[in-house]
Amino acid sequence: MSDKNPLPLKDRMKILRTHMPELDPQLRSRNFEEVNQGLKVLDAVTEASRCLECAKPACVFDCPVGVKIRDIVALIYSGDYLAAASKLREDNALPAITGRVCPQESQCEGGCILGKKGAPLAIGNLERFVADYERESGQLGLPAIAPATGKSVAIVGSGPAGLSAAGDLIQKGHRVRVFEALHELGGVLVYGIPEFRLPKSIVKGEVENLRRMGVEFETNVVVGKSVTIDELMQEEHYDAVFIATGAGLPVFLGVPGEHLNGVYSANEFLTRINLMRAYNAEEYDQPVYDCRNRDVIIVGGGNTAMDAVRTAKRLGARSATLVYRRSEAEMPARAEEVKHAREEGVEFRMLTAPVEFLGDETGWLTGARCIRMELSEPDESGRRRPVEIKGSEFDLPANVAIIGVGTTANPLIQSTTPDLATNKRNYIVADPESMRTSKLGVFAGGDIVTGGATVILAMGAGRKAARSIHEYLTTGRW
Ligand SMILES: Cc1cc2nc3c(=O)[nH]c(=O)nc-3n(C[C@H](O)[C@H](O)[C@H](O)COP(=O)(O)OP(=O)(O)OC[C@H]3O[C@@H](n4cnc5c(N)ncnc54)[C@H](O)[C@@H]3O)c2cc1C
Ligand code: SF4
Repeated sequence: MSDKNPLPLKDRMKILRTHMPELDPQLRSRNFEEVNQGLKVLDAVTEASRCLECAKPACVFDCPVGVKIRDIVALIYSGDYLAAASKLREDNALPAITGRVCPQESQCEGGCILGKKGAPLAIGNLERFVADYERESGQLGLPAIAPATGKSVAIVGSGPAGLSAAGDLIQKGHRVRVFEALHELGGVLVYGIPEFRLPKSIVKGEVENLRRMGVEFETNVVVGKSVTIDELMQEEHYDAVFIATGAGLPVFLGVPGEHLNGVYSANEFLTRINLMRAYNAEEYDQPVYDCRNRDVIIVGGGNTAMDAVRTAKRLGARSATLVYRRSEAEMPARAEEVKHAREEGVEFRMLTAPVEFLGDETGWLTGARCIRMELSEPDESGRRRPVEIKGSEFDLPANVAIIGVGTTANPLIQSTTPDLATNKRNYIVADPESMRTSKLGVFAGGDIVTGGATVILAMGAGRKAARSIHEYLTTGRW
């Protein structure tokens, strides 16, 4: 294969976007196997051949961490997949993960010039292809580690922000120890996003690579309870701390009946399924939420709600219905998730909001009283504001209701670290470039600073924090 793409640009534009093979919806809606099956080598090269190799690549500008997409795609076209993977790792520490879960349609692919006249380049699928190729080839080159500096960093939280920072700091020669409250490492990547979108083995593989590089991990440590930030610095002598605790505290609707048995937050529901093996009813005596032959409704329109509703379907729900107060156009969930959910038989009730949960005399949920909504002027988020249509209430039968309308900051660390500045929503205040907080030696990044965002933004924050921590540890400048 030649190195340069000989096809004239107009011919490249005629090639159709390569289709990602997917498991059959009938089959997959009854198991937890990964839905997207990955591109084969020939498909990846064909897809790469569509790239116009733009002089000013919009895809790169629209990637939150500036991945050198054009160069990576050229390497795929020339057949050097390992070089493509290594170039990808220069800017993205967890490519097999972001290739699977990034909202590419509103980032790199949203900017791709091919999208002006047809389908954008399948950048996410190509990213996943090279990352998987590298892993399956067993030729993953671990980066060089600088000589030990004698400095140590405590990282609180093992989500994408914490893991990215750990990977960069260990390479600089610092001692790095990650403290995680849960018994599994990976944050939302393991406790939130289900196996059918992101297999746990992929996240485990990335954690193992970090371990091989020398990162230490300690699970079941709730910082703020088991040990405070001050104790980590004064008694355990860490020179710097990076707080990357995410935004995992569920938000509820605040409507009557939300206390009934059978009403759960999406975070708790997904955590139980993902971490307590409730997904495997055959082998484990688990399913705390027995959805089999039950009516399940999920409230919300983001990724979390979509993951919960597709999970309920897989647990055997008789009906799995998504209730969202705006229309489909305003749903924050990725377009691919919406498409997959529909194919799997999820029912959508748009412009609908629960106003009350209904129960029986034993305290168990029997249904949700809902009201129909219509859209008026855009609100501060830029989306059209939903308003209730008076007198349009109706009841939906439900044995299980899952609330997936968002999360907020867990207050534990903030309340036990008195000199750590927070904003009025209790997120930690950190400089957006240096990630420095109000407390000397303490940095913060990811969802605990921005509120619920994306994996790639959390990773970007982790990398910025690592740069800044390294500078602080080597120069003492604050
Ligand atoms: C169900 C779901 C699906 C999502 N899907 C997508 C998607 O498809 N694409 C996308 O880009 N984004 C998605 N997101 C958002 C994305 O996962 C988050 O923005 C991202 O994980 C934030 O990373 P983080 O490192 O800041 O925090 P997290 O991933 O939340 O990790 C924080 C970690 O800190 C730990 N922790 C918290 N408090 C303490 C403490 N006191 N002591 C010790 N450890 C602590 C937590 O247990 C957790 O492991 C999804 C979110 C959810 C909930
Ligand atoms: S914008 Fe699209 S066509 Fe242009 S370099 Fe990026 S991926 Fe290729």
